[in-house]
Amino acid sequence: MTELLLSKPIVDASLVNLRKRAEILKNNGLIPRLAIILAGQNQASLTYTRNKKLFCEKFGAICDIIQLPETVSGGSFLDAVRTTSRDPLVHGCLIQLPLPEHLKDLELDTLIPAHKDIDGFHPLNMHALMRDAPASTYFCPCTPKGILGLLEFYNINVSGKHVVIIGRSSIVGKPLAMLLTNKNATVTLCHSKTSDLRSIAHGADILISAIGHARLIDQSFFSTKKQPVVVDVGTNFDSDNKLCGDVDFDAVRDLVSAISPVPGGVGPLTILSLAQNLLQAAENNVK
Ligand code: NAP
Repeated sequence: MTELLLSKPIVDASLVNLRKRAEILKNNGLIPRLAIILAGQNQASLTYTRNKKLFCEKFGAICDIIQLPETVSGGSFLDAVRTTSRDPLVHGCLIQLPLPEHLKDLELDTLIPAHKDIDGFHPLNMHALMRDAPASTYFCPCTPKGILGLLEFYNINVSGKHVVIIGRSSIVGKPLAMLLTNKNATVTLCHSKTSDLRSIAHGADILISAIGHARLIDQSFFSTKKQPVVVDVGTNFDSDNKLCGDVDFDAVRDLVSAISPVPGGVGPLTILSLAQNLLQAAENNVK
């Protein structure tokens, strides 16, 4: 029987904890506050931003959305990020990606100070991940953190396992490879230039897909010899405009031991991780 790796029980249980932590902060005169800087009207970004705000409200945090026009100049954009992220009332700050084309070459990595960079993209946070620093001392990128939380919740031990990740982006694949390596997994990080991707996938104990192609991972990625755990990070819309993952869920579900669906799998865990990072940032102010 294939196990479904659902995020709902994780989110429900974690919300109780987040509310308690926010309440303690409130008793110390502090309300956790997130600021999101958004440029333009990208539909997916507007949805993600709204979902982050709604989730903050569920546990008593404030979320400010700084909405800048699509045509904002590079200078004005940088000024807005600097001003917002240096506001002492803001504990966590992030830039909603993707940015409009003319802002894509801006040097953003160190713009938000590391102690407010709850997306975990600042070089200091990345370096802490690389050297496997204690989790409470830095911010781990949210999607990799959420995926690790998913595996832990369902008691899927990664130590000694062969994890195949497809997709090497800086926000998912690369930091996830580092995080799982720190947890003693043996990781193969694949991408569009990987030769013989299917035969690498056939050797996976755990297969994680972060590609961005609707239902590309079909039966041909699985052999009869192994029934791997599958984590689907993809957030895609098919030709009927239906939300789906990178994995052809219906075609592969009987070939795998466990699988995270889309929707209902990794997506909500990214926001949960963001909330956990926000509280960690706010709590650092009262320690
Ligand atoms: P990205 O920056 O576009 O990277 C995609 C990666 O997939 C690249 O490394 C690319 O290889 C690789 N790739 C593309 N086509 C491939 C193919 N046919 N075979 C093998 N590798 C292939 O994407 P991303 O930002 O990491 O996002 C990936 C997906 O995850 C998207 O659907 C995104 O919406 C979703 N996502 C979901 C969450 C969530 O919370 N659920 C969070 C983040 C992202 P190259 O490097 O060689 O180009």
